[in-house]
Amino acid sequence: MVELKTAAELDAMRDAGRVVGTILDTVRQVADVHVSLRELDEAARAVLREAGAGSPFLNYRPSFAATPFPAVICTSVNDAIVHGIPDDYRLRDGDLLGVDCGAVLDGWAGDAAISFVVGTPQPADSLLIDTAEQALAAGIAAAVVGARIGDISHAIGTIARAAGYGIMEDFGGHGIGRQMHEDPGVPNEGRPGRGMRLRHGMTFAIEPMLIAGGRDKYRTAADGWTLLTTDGSRAAHVEHTIAVTDDGPRILTVP
Ligand code: MG
Ligand code: MG
Repeated sequence: MVELKTAAELDAMRDAGRVVGTILDTVRQVADVHVSLRELDEAARAVLREAGAGSPFLNYRPSFAATPFPAVICTSVNDAIVHGIPDDYRLRDGDLLGVDCGAVLDGWAGDAAISFVVGTPQPADSLLIDTAEQALAAGIAAAVVGARIGDISHAIGTIARAAGYGIMEDFGGHGIGRQMHEDPGVPNEGRPGRGMRLRHGMTFAIEPMLIAGGRDKYRTAADGWTLLTTDGSRAAHVEHTIAVTDDGPRILTVP
């Protein structure tokens, strides 16, 4: 069952998304060489507190996880694709950092992610991140009334494959609303014209996860949460929560 949101509900989701966008902006500003991942989580917690918002990440425990998630953001460094736990690791020059964040405000969820390089970027990392952002933009652009989920997937996958990158298997975008993770899934690769037809008031988190080495597989780190590339290559993850509307796609997770 996919809930179609009213105009007021979309505005409420925009308010939740604004908190998410503000957190990601804040973390990007705080992240620097020698700053610890835990300090980034603390900065994110402060924004949530200030906004009176809750975290859908904190204590989240999906079926694949052995322990509840202990933080309000995921911080995934270099060969970590997603779900990295903010710990005492201090960022180094050239690290590729993915930050994933959620917020719940007045009963509505937002979910978004950014990837960026701390300090001086290597050209290969900049290209990987740029491509992930292009794939996200293409996926969002495909999220129009009358199109289908497969059109979003196809738009993302086409850009990722053309660049020779791997597309992380098993994980992708999702419906979002009162819960962070709702039906339907929004795969990062697929066939155009297939899947659920998009209607005004549907809301999705669209999130390409690209792997530089070109393989789709991942492995789970000893902490039970962090998902790593199998070849040690770097990965980029970017995400927005968007609404399908009669006026076109509306990005909800910006400040
Ligand atoms: Mg996310
Ligand atoms: Mg998500």
